[in-house]
Amino acid sequence: MDEQDEIRRLSLSLNIPQSLASLIQAPTCLECGDTGWQIIIRGNLEWARPCRCRSVQRENRLMRGIDERFREATFENFTPLDQKQEKVVTRMKENPFGSYFLSGTYAIGKTHLMIAQYRQVAAKIPAEIRTSRELALEFRTAEMVEHFVSPVQAKADLAQRFHFFWDDVDKLKSTAFREEVIFHLVDRLYRRKLGITITSNLSLAQLAEHEVLEPAVIRRIDDMCEVFEL
Ligand SMILES: [Zn+2]
Repeated sequence: MDEQDEIRRLSLSLNIPQSLASLIQAPTCLECGDTGWQIIIRGNLEWARPCRCRSVQRENRLMRGIDERFREATFENFTPLDQKQEKVVTRMKENPFGSYFLSGTYAIGKTHLMIAQYRQVAAKIPAEIRTSRELALEFRTAEMVEHFVSPVQAKADLAQRFHFFWDDVDKLKSTAFREEVIFHLVDRLYRRKLGITITSNLSLAQLAEHEVLEPAVIRRIDDMCEVFEL
């Protein structure tokens, strides 16, 4: 008999309505009963300390929305294909708060490395991760919906520390509106010395050539980031 059956059986014997019984869920953390606090008793002293499950919950929250293929990605489980990639992962590991521009063909490991960095950075400071599509949608919503503020732009404008992770920059479809907000975003990150990590199928030179990003934006990215081709 599983837990839910057990609760149903108990509720019947106690005359608790079924609808209420379904709300009673066994806690996932048996050490704190999902309160996030463990009660410690030593002699007649009693105090509470944060439960170990908190860091797990925080991690789950951070990784929500990340593509399933990459949810477990770390620097440790990245397998470099050659010396070039080994150099990149070594550099990112020793400087996890650095800004990086990672370019290379599809499925070469860029997103894996970005998520691995995101995992480390987001555990310590405010961070946001978006694909170009998600970012465009967020900016569009901010434009259309009153009182909706883009979390990415708000942090770029105001946060003391912030790292923005931008996946697939080359998928950005250029329109006048987006060019303006993209410049504003990158310029704020640049002037406020915040972090940015970008993945792209195209190199910086190709992004300029195909006019995906404006020269002023590319210059700032080039200035902020260590540029690696994988
Ligand atoms: Zn707990």
